[in-house]
Amino acid sequence: MSNINNNGTVPVQEFEYKAEMKQLLDLIVHSLYTHPEIYLRELISNASDALSKVRFNALTDQDILDKEAELAIRITIDSKEMTFVIEDSGVGMTEEELIANLGTVAKSGTLSFMQSLKEQQKQLDGNLIGQFGVGFYSVFMVTEEVTVETRSARLDSQGYRWRSSGQGTYTIENIDKTERGTKISFKLKEEHKEFAEEYRVEQIIKKYSNFVDFPIYLGEKQVNSITALWQRSKSELKDEEVNEFYKFIANDYNDPLDFLPVSVEGMVTFKALLFLPKEAPPEMLYRQSELENRGPQLYVKKVLIQNECRDLLPEYLRFIAGVVDTEDLSLNVSREVVQSSPVMAKIRQILTSKILGWFETLSKDQPEKFKTFYKAFGPIIKIGLNTDFTNRDKLIELLHFESTKTDEGGYVTLREYTERMGADQKEIYYHSGSSRSQLLAHPNLEYFQDMGIEVLLLSDPVDVFVIPSIHEYDKKALKSIEKADIDFSKQKREKAEPLAENLLAPVLQLFRETLGEGIEDVIESQRLVNSPVTLVSGKDGLDSQMEKMMKMMQSAMPATKRILEVNTSHPIIRNLAGMIMADANNPLIRTAMKQLYEGALFLEGGLDSTTAFLSRMNELIEAATLSR
Ligand code: ADP
Repeated sequence: MSNINNNGTVPVQEFEYKAEMKQLLDLIVHSLYTHPEIYLRELISNASDALSKVRFNALTDQDILDKEAELAIRITIDSKEMTFVIEDSGVGMTEEELIANLGTVAKSGTLSFMQSLKEQQKQLDGNLIGQFGVGFYSVFMVTEEVTVETRSARLDSQGYRWRSSGQGTYTIENIDKTERGTKISFKLKEEHKEFAEEYRVEQIIKKYSNFVDFPIYLGEKQVNSITALWQRSKSELKDEEVNEFYKFIANDYNDPLDFLPVSVEGMVTFKALLFLPKEAPPEMLYRQSELENRGPQLYVKKVLIQNECRDLLPEYLRFIAGVVDTEDLSLNVSREVVQSSPVMAKIRQILTSKILGWFETLSKDQPEKFKTFYKAFGPIIKIGLNTDFTNRDKLIELLHFESTKTDEGGYVTLREYTERMGADQKEIYYHSGSSRSQLLAHPNLEYFQDMGIEVLLLSDPVDVFVIPSIHEYDKKALKSIEKADIDFSKQKREKAEPLAENLLAPVLQLFRETLGEGIEDVIESQRLVNSPVTLVSGKDGLDSQMEKMMKMMQSAMPATKRILEVNTSHPIIRNLAGMIMADANNPLIRTAMKQLYEGALFLEGGLDSTTAFLSRMNELIEAATLSR
């Protein structure tokens, strides 16, 4: 820092940007922004924040400068001179704040993040800039030098002029400024003179800042439409307007999938406008913190209090964007008070049940929309099921599954399943695996397909953690078809002559001997139709899909042993029985038994090494070709 004299009278202090800051500016100006017009959005958004703060202070704090001043943003342009001025009557900045806010990078790690973006050749577009506290500097894309004149809203404040060309230094000097607030002015670079054209500036404001909560004047004319859309009833809302509003508050490029106006009067009074996004940001499903820190905006009597208010919704529903405006909180509440307020708890409870009702209505009245929603957010609903016990039953009703009786991508609910299942069916069956085609090819399904019994096909990885925990629905147990203890006494047609007991026992015994420790038991199957063998799990055994998931998470898990079921009507098994009668020591028998077992493992994706499997296959082919 050095003291120099400007015109020998007013002391001007010159400051040096930190090294990190220089690099950051360089990155911002030269590589990261796709659209220079973004600078306007950033300046307006800063002005709007400053206005929100002063409005809030005015409510909580009696003594502020210019208490009666209109809260507004004024833009003045001169297309001949190519100058641009934006002024607000917001909180302004003290000298310390100027240095802290415009002289340093607000968040640590910002520079390295920006650099990594550059290395990945990514562009920094609208969504990201604001999040990193660097929005102001985008102005250096369109100008060589910026002047910021500001005066804090504190009664004892003074005016300051900050000036920089974004090249490594900035200056600050005292000035006479009578009103509170901030005025930012600059001359546009020749190639950006369009930003001093009225039609162009108006167009940009409409595009990015139409719903800013304070009037934006361009010259004498107000260009934005400030409308508290959430205060209107559904019939007064136009889709187009609502969509624009959503994009503005959610920073999304897409229209919302659906929206819900809420108006509640009674124990608590509030209005809300909520939105379902079309897509889930990918990180939302896998990083818990992504949901944790979200939430709708909280307004109190039309004044913005919190931008992302977490307390309005349970965590699993925080992917919903929107605005909640209540009369029942006082404006000067602190964040801690908001958090623990019974009013908030009541609002959260009402909102949650409205939202779940909304999902239900969608699933009944707009199945296509619901499908899109469920595809994007289904896993989150399932997470809710294990966290929101008050609404568990409602969430269970929202579950949708593919089944053996739906098309690929089709859905059935548990209600529909139980309504159409046979009167004598006692259980709800499901089958979990990694894909529909793999599930449909599984021998365990044969009995159910043969009998026309519907089986839910679970291929969402979250399913195995959630569905078994439901235990029962409508007094019917949910059961994995992989379990050994399923009642197969009802059979459609006479089975082929079963093996006589004296032939069957040695087959099972030899299987047991051959497979040894690896298996819990070998039993005669009642469920198989076309396949010779299949693997099932005992009463207390884990579902194989569940086991696979657990293994992925903690590799040192002991595998639970499975039960091998043998189809005694199948020619292979009958042939093996014959071979045992002829010569129980024929090595081909054991080779075939091992191969059958590993084939069943293979089908479930549970075969660790295929080397032995393949060499045994060759051995068997050799034997088969030899005997011809
Ligand atoms: P961000 O707004 O994301 O924090 P910026 O670089 O845009 O990052 O602004 C840095 C800080 O400068 C702001 O957080 C705010 O404290 C201050 N600031 C910027 N513009 C104004 C303004 N018009 N009035 C008051 N303070 C402002």
